[in-house]
Amino acid sequence: MNEKERRFVQHHVQGFYQKKVPVPPAVSQREFGFGWQSKIDYRHRGFISSWEYEQFVRQEAPLYMSYSLAYYQFPEKQPMGEKGFQGADLVFDLDSPKQEHDHEPVLCRTCLEDIHQQALQLKKMLEEDFGFQQPKLVFSGQKGFHVHVQSPDVMDLSKDARRQLAEYVAAEGLDASTLFRKTAYDLEHHVKPVETLQGPSSQSTGWTAKIYQRVRRAIQEKDVSALKRYGFSRKTVSAIQDDPAPALSQINSGHWGALLGKDKQPNTESLIADVQVVQTDKAVTYDLSRLIRVPGSIHGSTGFITKPLEDPETFRIRDVLAFDSRQQTTVIARQDLKFEFLDEIWTLPRARFSEVPLPLGIYLACQEKAFIP
Ligand SMILES: [Zn+2]
Repeated sequence: MNEKERRFVQHHVQGFYQKKVPVPPAVSQREFGFGWQSKIDYRHRGFISSWEYEQFVRQEAPLYMSYSLAYYQFPEKQPMGEKGFQGADLVFDLDSPKQEHDHEPVLCRTCLEDIHQQALQLKKMLEEDFGFQQPKLVFSGQKGFHVHVQSPDVMDLSKDARRQLAEYVAAEGLDASTLFRKTAYDLEHHVKPVETLQGPSSQSTGWTAKIYQRVRRAIQEKDVSALKRYGFSRKTVSAIQDDPAPALSQINSGHWGALLGKDKQPNTESLIADVQVVQTDKAVTYDLSRLIRVPGSIHGSTGFITKPLEDPETFRIRDVLAFDSRQQTTVIARQDLKFEFLDEIWTLPRARFSEVPLPLGIYLACQEKAFIP
């Protein structure tokens, strides 16, 4: 941003914090980092009370505010080892969409929706596979989501345990060969034992359970192309099209041999790829000295709020706006722009004055897509 745009944004950010300063829990035990020119101009800042913190934010109106996932006895001390680490929240950072596509030039709704779905998937995994209570979805303020777990259960998790959690959610190190095993039934009246392939079943847990559920759904929905991809025999696929019930009963008990055909192997790569794998920035999860954007604060690259979602299932840009969209402002687009914002299509010709809602004007200024006259 140029100086003029920065002053304009700064002015509105200050106005926002005059009304309310969001204070993170355990403020006196957190290390803070603040930025005006960059995301973090300086860090190792601490506050003795929420009052002191609120005063600071109101006065300085930082464009970027970050705080430590860790709780410290002396948040301001340096080096890190002197801070007196007392535990940390567990946080995951999602910011890269799974799909490749033509991005919207100004604000890519497809990417945001994709990441939101991934964040929901991660939340479910944390609840179902680890029993964490109510992970919170927080919009990162730009193009991603953070998932926060604040609970005594996670406070003492080691760096290694956090790394393993981050790898688990990405299905990293999942050994496909351990999902299936050959079992020999040595029945009395058989000369040779009968070999059959056992795999994910209704009794499975963790990733194996996810694969079971995915395949079960494919059978129920008679999803022919998925079943073929997983390695089901042609005979089984056509039987499923007539009546899925027998195949469902086989898969419930994990009798994959009966579904794949003699000596056939399942396509484990395809199975793993189809159960959603969540991509996160792992370092955010295991690096205990990391700072992350303060929930409720403004993100200086967008003017949006880094917002905890009240209803995790619903994400809309209009819910994360920091500024009144009924208020208008004038901008000068730096190039011809055409995009969607707040369910409207905007066409802004280059180098002309355009009237836009204030949050859009601030967003365009932050993104260096427009000047402020
Ligand atoms: Zn996109």
